[in-house]
Amino acid sequence: MPYTTKTPARGKIRVYNGMPVRAFLLAAILLVLLAGAGCQDSDPTFRIFEKPIIFNEEREQLSLEYMKVRHGIDAERAVIDPRMVVVHWTAVYSIEDTYDIFNPVRLRGRAELQDAGALNVSAHFLVDRDGTVFRLLPDTTFARHTIGLNYMAIGIENIGGSQAPLTRAQLRANTELITWLAGKYDIRYVIGHHEYQDFKGSDVWKETDPDYLTNKVDPGPEFMRRLRENLKPLEFRSEP
Ligand SMILES: [Zn+2]
Repeated sequence: MPYTTKTPARGKIRVYNGMPVRAFLLAAILLVLLAGAGCQDSDPTFRIFEKPIIFNEEREQLSLEYMKVRHGIDAERAVIDPRMVVVHWTAVYSIEDTYDIFNPVRLRGRAELQDAGALNVSAHFLVDRDGTVFRLLPDTTFARHTIGLNYMAIGIENIGGSQAPLTRAQLRANTELITWLAGKYDIRYVIGHHEYQDFKGSDVWKETDPDYLTNKVDPGPEFMRRLRENLKPLEFRSEP
C-alpha cells in the first residue's frame, strides 16, 4: 500500500513508498504505456462494425421467392433460425470491391446462378485481412451464400483466396465471431463452403433441384482444420 503523510506540511514533497511524487507518476505512466502496448497484441477487444448492404422491400421479396422456389419454404418474412455457420473466402481482394458486389439487390452476371433466382448473393459478415469484422446483414436475415443450406446458415466471408491465403488475424476473428454467435443461437454445424455438398441428401438439405450444385474450394481444408482446433470445446459438427 502506498502511504501519504496525513497532513503534509506546506513546502514538503509528498511521498509514496519513499519515492518522490513526480518520479512515481512518471513510473506509473510508463507502466500504463507498456501494459497498453502489450495488450494490443495479446488481448484485442472483439468488435463488430456495422456496414449494412441494402435490405429493402425488393430484396425481401426476392429472398422470399428464393426460399420458396429453391428451399421449398413458404415464409412471410425472410428470416432464418441459425443452426449453421458457413465460412467462405471472397476471391475478391478488398472489402470495398466485395461490398459493391453484395450490395445490389439483384444478381448481376453469373449465368449459372441467374437461372436459380434473381436474388443477389451476399453474406452476414465480412472479415478483412487484418481481422476487422463487418456486419452486412442482421444475423437472422436470409442471405444467399450456400446452396441447399441458406435457410439455416449464417455466412462469414473472408477477404482472400487462392492468391492470398487467409491470415492469422482472420483465423482469430472467425474464432471469436463464431464463439459469439454460438452464445446467441443454437449453432450445431460449422463448415467450410467447400464441404457443403456433404449435406446433400441429408435431413437438413433443402434444394428443390438435385442438379443445382456449384463446385467450391473456399476456404480450404487447412483453414478449417485450424479453425476447428480453436473451436474444439464448442463441439460443432462438420457433417450431417
Ligand atoms: Zn463461398
